Parts: sequence; C-alpha cells; structure tokens
Amino acid sequence: MPRYRPGPRRVPRKVVANHSSDGRTPTPVTTPESLTFRSDVTVELVKSSASDADVLFAARVSTAGEQSLDELKKDPERSKGLINFLMRDRHGSPFEHNSMTFFISAPIFVFREFMRHRAGWSYNEESGRYRELESVFYVPDASRKLVQEGRPGKYVFVEGTPAQQEAVSSTLRESYEQAYAAYQKMLAEGIAREVARAALPVGLYSSMYATCNARSLMHFLGLRTQHELAKVPSFPQREIEMVGEKMEAEWAKLMPLTYAAFNANGRVAP
Ligand SMILES: Cc1cc2nc3c(=O)[nH]c(=O)nc-3n(C[C@H](O)[C@H](O)[C@H](O)COP(=O)(O)OP(=O)(O)OC[C@H]3O[C@@H](n4cnc5c(N)ncnc54)[C@H](O)[C@@H]3O)c2cc1C
Repeated sequence: MPRYRPGPRRVPRKVVANHSSDGRTPTPVTTPESLTFRSDVTVELVKSSASDADVLFAARVSTAGEQSLDELKKDPERSKGLINFLMRDRHGSPFEHNSMTFFISAPIFVFREFMRHRAGWSYNEESGRYRELESVFYVPDASRKLVQEGRPGKYVFVEGTPAQQEAVSSTLRESYEQAYAAYQKMLAEGIAREVARAALPVGLYSSMYATCNARSLMHFLGLRTQHELAKVPSFPQREIEMVGEKMEAEWAKLMPLTYAAFNANGRVAP
C-alpha cells in the first residue's frame, strides 16, 4: 500500500454543504483540551464529469451508432422521455458513463456503512498508520432523535429527554477525552500509530474521497436515505443519511433529468 502524503484535507477549502442533521449550520466546538466535537458531516464535490447528455448518448448508440452524439440537442422532450423510459424499465448501464468524486468527512461508523457499497464505487481514506489521527469526534446535536422504539425491522426513533441529551453529550465527550489521552500516551511512549489507534472509538472523524457514477449513487441513495417518493422504504442510520442528502443535492444539480426520473420512478436504481 503506498503512503499517501498529504492525506485528504480534514477541513476542505471550499465546503459545499456542511450542516447538522436538521439542516442548520453548527460551529464545531473546540474544548480546552483541544478536542474538537462536531455534529455535522462534510461533503464536497471535488470533481465531476456528469450530465444528462452522458446518459443519452450512451443509450442512443443502440439505434444511432456513432451518430448518437449528434442526437443530443435535437429534441429535449424526447430526451426526457428516453431517460424516464430507461429508469422505469431499469436499463441501467447508460447511467454509468459519468463520474463524481466527493470529499467526505464523517465519523468512522458512517464509513463502515458506506464502504459496504462495492459496485461502482472507488474509495481512498486517510491512514491511521501513516499519520497521527486528529482529535475530532462526533457528538450529536439536539435534533438527533435518541430513543429507538419498536421491534427489529420496524423501529421508529423519537426525541430524547433533556436528561438523555445531556447524558449522551457528557458521556461521549468524557469517553472521547479518555480514549484520545490513551492514544497520545502510547504515541508519547514511542508506540507505533497503527498500534496506538486501537484505543480510538468509531465516533472519531475520518476523511475519504469516494468516486461513483449516477447508477451506483442511485443505489446508495435508495438504501441510505428516506424519502416520501421511495417505492421501497429503507431505514438508514441518520448520520449516513446526512451524507447521502448532501451527495444527492450535488448530483441533482449535475443531472436534473436523471434525478427527476429517479424520483418519478420510486427512487429505485435502474
Ligand atoms: C438499513 C440498512 C441496514 C443494514 N444492516 C446491516 C447489518 O446489520 N449487517 C450487515 O452486514 N450489513 C448491513 N447493511 C448493509 C447491506 O447488507 C449492504 O451490504 C449495503 O447496503 C450495500 O448494498 P449492496 O450490496 O446492494 O451494494 P453494492 O455492494 O454496491 O452492490 C450493488 C449491487 O451489485 C450486486 N452485487 C454486488 N456484489 C455482489 C455479489 N458479491 N454477488 C452478487 N451480486 C452482487 C447486487 O445486485 C447489489 O445490490 C445494511 C444496509 C442498510 C441500508
């Protein structure tokens, strides 16, 4: 495995979207002990080559061969209809001829879920072997529903009481402080970073670049977001949904016809 230097930026120069689970923009809190507590996630579209035209030329090669590029601007209504037909009938491959690269900063437990998405995704994450991990940790804000009710597969989440919110906030902070102090202690004693990191919890923030195409993103969004138009409901953890919502907002701007067809056809990836 090559050494990546420098690692992905923890705080990107340009933050496209950076808000809490209820859409408000929080300010990260830095404690006197220099631990930083965040309740938000960062998603930055760093690179893209993605448009509705990419879907159209790929689909029209079936009938127009190498002339398919000439067809692109001829009839917008026909183009819209074709994209909708491809989505409805699940002709998925024309939605793969595009690329979006996102910089994402989120807690490690989000990345554990994220990297289960294998098909049409490429990932590179910062290393805990080659660099000292920064003391940035997740503490949910007051908008995060804290209490799970119902049976497995049919959970609902409800607000916590002020006492429960306080318990989550103070217990997590205390736990993070102890864990990070243990990590620092081992580093100070000359222990390798790859060993010392075992003390750190999944609430630690990590960062990665994730590259996908519209088809793989739609599959991700179908599973990792909740939406009133979804034909097949899913029950994602709120924190990965926060990432998904920001990616969705970026993608919707790049491929508006494809995005509309995705919603119109029940948010099922073709
Ligand atoms: C709400 C929720 C709860 C979850 N809970 C758990 C859990 O408790 N434990 C757990 O381990 N995971 C859990 N997962 C993860 C889940 O099982 C999937 O790993 C994850 O959603 C990625 O989906 P995927 O495999 O369809 O995506 P991708 O890996 O991106 O695959 C996309 C599609 O490609 C095809 N494909 C990919 N690889 C193969 C293959 N090897 N063989 C055949 N077809 C393939 C399939 O059609 C697949 O749908 C959960 C996911 C969600 C959304």
